Amino acid sequence: MAFKTQNADAFHWLIDMLESVEVGLVVLDLEFRVQAWNGFMENHSGITASQIHNKSLFDEFPDIPKAWLTRKVDAVAMLNTRAFTSWEQRPYLFQFRNSRPITGTEEYMYQNLTISPLSSTTGEVDKVCLLIYDVTEFASSKRALERANEQLAKLSMTDRLTGLLNRGTWENLVDAEFERYRRYGHATALVMFDIDHFKPVNDTYGHLAGDEVIRHTAQVTRNGVRQSDSAGRYGGEEFGIILPETDAENARVICERIRETIEQSTVNTTAGDIRYTISMGVAQLTDEPENYMQWMQKADEALYKAKESGRNKVVIGE
Ligand code: GH3
Ligand code: MG
Ligand code: MG
Repeated sequence: MAFKTQNADAFHWLIDMLESVEVGLVVLDLEFRVQAWNGFMENHSGITASQIHNKSLFDEFPDIPKAWLTRKVDAVAMLNTRAFTSWEQRPYLFQFRNSRPITGTEEYMYQNLTISPLSSTTGEVDKVCLLIYDVTEFASSKRALERANEQLAKLSMTDRLTGLLNRGTWENLVDAEFERYRRYGHATALVMFDIDHFKPVNDTYGHLAGDEVIRHTAQVTRNGVRQSDSAGRYGGEEFGIILPETDAENARVICERIRETIEQSTVNTTAGDIRYTISMGVAQLTDEPENYMQWMQKADEALYKAKESGRNKVVIGE
């Protein structure tokens, strides 16, 4: 330390300062018995310096990772050098409640930790000092930023109106599924579907009500497929579903359920109650398509047939 303590007075204010500094200060001997414990530690742990003096740190704080801290402290003592760990490696050493009201979303105090060697008068390291920094505010805002970035990445993959995958993302998945089929040959089916007579819906009830119908279609689709299936909004009122590990007949069952649910539901909008139907085309993948676009074309042809033959139907492409 840079201070030269000339007299007892100076020693006193130095101790006062260490007592009140907003950093945790702990001195341990090499058996991990507590030799010093400042005000910060008292306030956050509820244990006073006299209570913990000469007690084993691990007895008082059974949650502290013993093997990890022992390894760190041994290295510091042996090499006579400082060690540092950040909250990103280990969120905290001492499980203290977060006391900052402004970062109330975090339950515990995030901590950075420095371990410094302390030498005796003979020059050998016989103690270490732990410095515990409260970095909750920093950690909390960094985590919030990371969450926001994740959200952003998700948003750029999904369609704003429906929350389904957007066209680009969905087509990439169709391509990936096509490649997977080439390698493993597992049954897989593609569905393209389109709302029937949607133009009149827009014309009669308005564009916003039309949007409600599109959203409803997306919701029914989401509810009707498995976690492993991928539903996307392909165009305005056109949708696609990838059904991995599914043959045409099973795809038909899934599609019929979605089609029927929509046929039987009413969308209540401020412009009025809307009933509508959808037409669906299914294409189980065979060795014939040379790329994923040809596979999509097959599903689209089946959809066209469903429209041609009266709508509100599921047609399986041959
Ligand atoms: P069909 O049964 O043959 O499909 O008849 P249709 O009237 O549904 O014809 P089509 O599929 O060509 O309809 C497309 C209409 O969808 C035209 C457009 O006004 C409407 N549309 C496209 N995107 C949106 C959207 O995001 N919101 C709304 N409200 N309408 C949209
Ligand atoms: Mg259309
Ligand atoms: Mg349509």
